[in-house]
Amino acid sequence: MQINISNLSEGTYSYNFLEDPKNLAIEEVFQGPVAVSVTLEKSLNHLLLSVRASVKGIFICDRCADDFEETIETAFSSVYSWENDETAEEDDDYHIIAHDQNMIDISESVKEYLTIAVPLKHLCRRASCEIPLREAHNEDAIDPRWEKLKELKKQQRQ
Ligand SMILES: [Zn+2]
Repeated sequence: MQINISNLSEGTYSYNFLEDPKNLAIEEVFQGPVAVSVTLEKSLNHLLLSVRASVKGIFICDRCADDFEETIETAFSSVYSWENDETAEEDDDYHIIAHDQNMIDISESVKEYLTIAVPLKHLCRRASCEIPLREAHNEDAIDPRWEKLKELKKQQRQ
């Protein structure tokens, strides 16, 4: 996801990307295409990027253990500056660029922000979502207490 910044005059620009998660090496977590929209504000000494990204992933529900689809969204701002500001440290959101640099690549930032946007706990929020009753290993030796619980669950569903 590269943006050509050569010959940009001061002003506001928008860009949209639809990226294969494989190109960001996040295809193990996310399956859908990564949709990214960027608003770039160019001023004399820096570029301010406001980025929104979203992607679908298949996650395993922590309660019912079924897999389900969830859209992960993130939004962040990045500054790209031609001025080496002594007070600012270069980090994920502040980048120093050379005067002869024509392209900036936002792939790494998008990847990082999407990865940290994944919640630690996954809940499918389906009506049927419940902790599964443990299956008995041997049907003959089924614990009568489990049998009762199963009956109760059946009645609740009816
Ligand atoms: Zn669930």
